[in-house]
Amino acid sequence: MENLRVRMNPRKRVALVAHDNKKEELLQWAKFNAGTLKSHELFATGTTGKLLSEALGVKIKKMMSGPVGGDQQLGAKIAEGKIDVLIFFWDPLEPQPHDPDVKALLRIAVVWNIPVASNKASADFLISSPLFHSEYERNVILNIRR
Ligand code: PGA
Repeated sequence: MENLRVRMNPRKRVALVAHDNKKEELLQWAKFNAGTLKSHELFATGTTGKLLSEALGVKIKKMMSGPVGGDQQLGAKIAEGKIDVLIFFWDPLEPQPHDPDVKALLRIAVVWNIPVASNKASADFLISSPLFHSEYERNVILNIRR
């Protein structure tokens, strides 16, 4: 068993993703929180990122669109320690063609113990936490059988 301590800087690397029926809700949330979001480094899946950068006028590192690999790219970044926070407004009422990727992204976020918000209320709590802009050390327990 490996026990890692991973330091998160005050300036967080935040990944934003929204399924199609949730994009408007994420856009409204991001506009409301634009002042805070602008002080962090932002990442997003392709379409979500395009909409957010137009709406907020900020630079966002865009992955591929979710259904063609964007979720997996974000998952890889989480595993590499390159994403600190995941804001993922996923749609609980529509099946997605990339359901396995969605599940994998949520799973890897839990493996690496990063904060995740799956809906607006959680995102509100997360972004209003003082930890959102302070240093934080997270514990990562990798229970790997060798
Ligand atoms: P999109 O992908 O931002 O490219 O629409 C989101 C997703 O479906 O995971």
